Amino acid sequence: MADYLICGGTSYVPEDGNTGAQLFSTGEGLTYHDFIILPGFIDFTAEEVDLTSALTKKISLKAPLVSSPMDTVTESEMAIAMALCGGIGIIHHNCSPETQAQEVMKVKKYKHGFIRDPVCLTPQHRVSDVFDVKKSHGFGGIPITEDGKMGTRLLGIVTSRDIDFLEPNSDKLLSEIMTPFDDLVTAPAGVSLDKANEILQRSKKGKLPITNEHGELVALIARTDLKKSRNFPNASYDANNQLLVGAAIGTRETDKHRLELLVNAGVDVVVLDSSQGNSIYQINLIRYIKNTYPELQIVGGNVVTAAQAKNLIDAGVDGLRVGMGSGSICITQEVMAVGRPQATAVYKVAEYARRFGVPVMADGGIASVGHIIKALALGASTVMMGSMLAGTSEAPGEYFFSNGVRLKKYRGMGSLEAMDRKDTQGAAADRYFHGEGDRIKVAQGVSGSIVDKGSILRFLPYLVCGIQHGCQDIGAKSCSMLRAMLYSGELKLERRTVSAQKEGAVHSLHSYEKRLY
Ligand code: GDP
Ligand code: 5GP
Repeated sequence: MADYLICGGTSYVPEDGNTGAQLFSTGEGLTYHDFIILPGFIDFTAEEVDLTSALTKKISLKAPLVSSPMDTVTESEMAIAMALCGGIGIIHHNCSPETQAQEVMKVKKYKHGFIRDPVCLTPQHRVSDVFDVKKSHGFGGIPITEDGKMGTRLLGIVTSRDIDFLEPNSDKLLSEIMTPFDDLVTAPAGVSLDKANEILQRSKKGKLPITNEHGELVALIARTDLKKSRNFPNASYDANNQLLVGAAIGTRETDKHRLELLVNAGVDVVVLDSSQGNSIYQINLIRYIKNTYPELQIVGGNVVTAAQAKNLIDAGVDGLRVGMGSGSICITQEVMAVGRPQATAVYKVAEYARRFGVPVMADGGIASVGHIIKALALGASTVMMGSMLAGTSEAPGEYFFSNGVRLKKYRGMGSLEAMDRKDTQGAAADRYFHGEGDRIKVAQGVSGSIVDKGSILRFLPYLVCGIQHGCQDIGAKSCSMLRAMLYSGELKLERRTVSAQKEGAVHSLHSYEKRLY
């Protein structure tokens, strides 16, 4: 007979696994590979898992995913795709301030609720002028006003269809081809966005001009924007239904000018890009930003200890970026002997920052959906990714072939190659230098390549779905519940030995194909 111990029904459950506090109390630094999460109880579907999470004190995202401000990862195309899928992109600053501001503007202009500054022309303009606007801005629906500006009397509208069969250099007057005011469907100033969209839908037109009681143009609405909303229901929007976008800046005096251009372009959040964020330069800049642009959200960093986080929280940051030396292209720990294994860094900083309501972004070292789930389970609200997103069609740069494999370049912002970029005005170098005068560049990153991953618009939904499944296995119906389980001790974690890590990966096969989605 088996040797059973009878212990009073099923109410008895032995202690099993470690709480976060126990796992991270040993003084050792752990990576995402070094531990595993124990499964919980499932009473909901994966689809029901709500991934809404805070990026900063005031901005939350439907998907906790952020693309890194690196010049091989995030420019406007990536930022648009990230925001459409519920995350956010942070535009890199390894370019002139003007170029960076322009990239921000492209994201903000991508999709509008009310277009409050539409490009207008006068009846005396020519068809060739409309072609010029189409070439430079990408749209051809143009309100015609008395003096070609907003706020003057609306006289008509010209759309792409009016010029479809005309020569691009045609000097025909717009007064001859425009649809005149009397034939237009318009809506009155003060109309709500929902109501205006309803009028637009019913009218079957491409544009809906909004006019005041004097017939002056005050805004415009585009039908394409309605369609975009339907295709991307989880997109990250601001109050005016424009996509959210962030931008990185350094902590030098010259960055104040860069910041001004970014704010004018409509940036929602600024990320202070420094590999060691606990500096007097960053603290002074945070104070300056809070005084000058009180509405602007600031993510400070990078930090990996509570002591570093404290100084930035005291200075007023709205979010923290955590990670030092864990990035895939990074050689900081090797060269500078400073940094921290990422799982420990995320746990320690998040555990401290939550007391002040400051969300944490786990930056670097994310190599799989599992790592994202682990970062979130350790208290991060969002994850920032470089290598995971480089290699997608939305990442900057052209594909090239090597040994028959389709690749895209991916490089550290502290690599010599990025720091030497000719048109940078020194921005990449700033992140990794704090000194002045004659300097020898010490590289903190490498330059490499990533295999073609296809479009972000397919890849991000896969990540989202994967995170939902992970949360389901853990028994967490939302990201906030996941964090609550961590801090209540309900979430159980366990160290993985080297052989456990081997066992947890594919093994014992002669060959295999790893297709993820
Ligand atoms: P169009 O028919 O050629 O004007 O182009 P669409 O209506 O298909 O697309 C125009 C897109 O550009 C929409 O997403 C607009 O929100 C956006 N947009 C941004 N600024 C402007 C602007 O000043 N005028 C117009 N017409 N569209 C703008
Ligand atoms: P990944 O997602 O590729 O593992 O890491 C991306 C992160 O690495 C970035 O968000 C940034 O914080 C960090 N990073 C980018 N370039 C460099 C670099 O050259 N050196 C170091 N140390 N870190 C870098």
